Amino acid sequence: MEKGNFKVKMKPNEVITSYLRQQQVLFGSEIYISPLKNNQLGMMAHSGKSNNGETLDTYNTSICLCQECDLGKTRNSFVFGVGDPNADLMLVGEAPGKEEDSKGEPFVGRAGKLLDNILRAINKKRREGVYIANVLKCRPPNNRDPLPSEVKKCEPYLLRQIKIIKPKIIVALGRVAGKTLLKIDVPLKDMRSKIHDYNGTPLIVTYHPAALLRNPNFKQPAWDDFQWIRDQLNNRESING
Ligand code: URA
Repeated sequence: MEKGNFKVKMKPNEVITSYLRQQQVLFGSEIYISPLKNNQLGMMAHSGKSNNGETLDTYNTSICLCQECDLGKTRNSFVFGVGDPNADLMLVGEAPGKEEDSKGEPFVGRAGKLLDNILRAINKKRREGVYIANVLKCRPPNNRDPLPSEVKKCEPYLLRQIKIIKPKIIVALGRVAGKTLLKIDVPLKDMRSKIHDYNGTPLIVTYHPAALLRNPNFKQPAWDDFQWIRDQLNNRESING
C-alpha cells in the first residue's frame, strides 16, 4: 500500500482495519455494503459451502432470486418444490406450467390433481412422505421443453434438494424429465421398468400425469409403476438391495 511517498507493507488484517478507519472518517460509524447480486446468490447456492444446518427453507431463500438463465426474467414464481423434507419418495417433473408459475407450487393444475389421486391410491399425500419438484424451477415460455443451457444452471439446485431430503427413490415423471436427468435420448418405454442410478439414488421413470389425461391407455401401466413403487418403499430397506 502506498502512503504519501512511502511504501508501507501491511498484513491483511491491518489492511482491513485501515480501510474501516478510512470509511469511518468519511461516513461515520455506519458501514455501507453493496447487496449481493442475484448471480452471486446463484454462485453461493452452487458452491456447497453453506451446508451447515441447511434446510429446504434456507436453501430456497438462498436461491429464489436466481437469474442464472433468461427464465428468471419471465417467471412469476420461482417454483422450488413442495412436500415432506424427510420424504422417502421424490417425484420430479420437467418444469412448472402456467398454473404452477402463478401459484408457486409444482403440479397444481389438472395433471397435479391426477397426481394427488395416484398418491392417495398408494397411501401417500403430497406433503406426507412425498416431495415434489421439477428439473427447472422456472416456467419456460409456452411450456416448451427445457433447454440444455437451462438444465445446466438449474440441475444443481435439484441435486442439492436431493442431498437435503435423501429420498429412497426418485421418480421422473415423463420422458422429458427422464431423459434430462439420465442424459439419454430414448423413448419412455425404454426408460420404464428399470432401476436407474441418479447420482447414487435409485431412479425410475414413469408416465407424466398429463400424458395419462391425454391417453387413458397409459393409466394401467402407470398404475403398475406406482404399485411397484409402493411395494418397494414398504418392503425393502434398500431399493437396490
Ligand atoms: N408439469 C411438470 O412437469 N411440472 C409441473 O410442475 C407441472 C406440470
